[in-house]
Amino acid sequence: MAFDYRGKVAVVTGASSGIGKAVSLDLAKRGTTVVAVARRKELIEEVAEACRIHAPDSSAAVVDVADRAAVEGMCRETLERHSRVDVLINNAGIPQRIHVTRLTVEDVEQVMQINFMGTVYATLALLPSMLEHGSGHIVNVSSVAGRVGSPRESSYAASKFAMSGWSEVLASDLLETGVQVHLIVPGAIDTEIWQKVQEPASYSGKFIPPQKIADAVRDCLETGKFERWVPRRLQPVSVVRAVAPKSFIKGIHRYDKRAERPEG
Ligand code: NDP
Repeated sequence: MAFDYRGKVAVVTGASSGIGKAVSLDLAKRGTTVVAVARRKELIEEVAEACRIHAPDSSAAVVDVADRAAVEGMCRETLERHSRVDVLINNAGIPQRIHVTRLTVEDVEQVMQINFMGTVYATLALLPSMLEHGSGHIVNVSSVAGRVGSPRESSYAASKFAMSGWSEVLASDLLETGVQVHLIVPGAIDTEIWQKVQEPASYSGKFIPPQKIADAVRDCLETGKFERWVPRRLQPVSVVRAVAPKSFIKGIHRYDKRAERPEG
């Protein structure tokens, strides 16, 4: 399936750092106009400027994805300016690593609002235009924690499982419309998100460069693939979870003992 990057328009949320920045620059380098979305004004403008070197119509939008009106406004302005959006990358997200005994309702509301509802706002705002054109790609950046449980990340996993379920059903609902839905399932990627966790991570292995996610996004756009794990070798974990759920839960509990023990 050919995918011509030139002349396309992409909205990338969470583009001020890490994965979103790598994806934005990668698409722009190939001639796609990028609307880079995030809250940190200076950083997002720097990314847009770097995109403009290759894709001169690229721009920055300072938007909090948890703010429905702001997301809808950004989508409206993007459609007014470019007439269409070919690719929506729902990537903005925050980590939340808090043992359930210390978790508040407000914590859960915050992570659901940013990681999941932000995706819903942008998707439903841009979908009618994609359907009208009979084409489009919606790429949702979930997580391994959105396919299998991850210790002390109940709220984060809930937001990412929501994204995975949402993506799977959208892919089915939209199957014959020309609008394709893709799910990216990253493992440990080398970004600043790891410095933002509230409690120490139990993971101590290697980190993958964010460019690998940009490569996976292109793989989905070019092949029409629904789901892409990075690295691919992690995918069998979901089979282990499916066939032996209790053993899986005991396994991740033991794995978590590497990190600081919860006080609760
Ligand atoms: P970063 O912390 O580097 O990037 C997160 C991005 O999301 C930033 O651009 C941040 O920008 C943006 N963001 C956060 N909150 C909001 C908000 N309320 N409104 C708008 N933008 C927001 O981490 P990553 O690049 O690693 O994360 C990108 C995605 O990848 C996330 O969804 C994350 O859950 C997912 N992921 C990452 C993994 C990893 O190991 N790195 C593993 C699995 C999934 P700003 O602060 O300027 O608003």
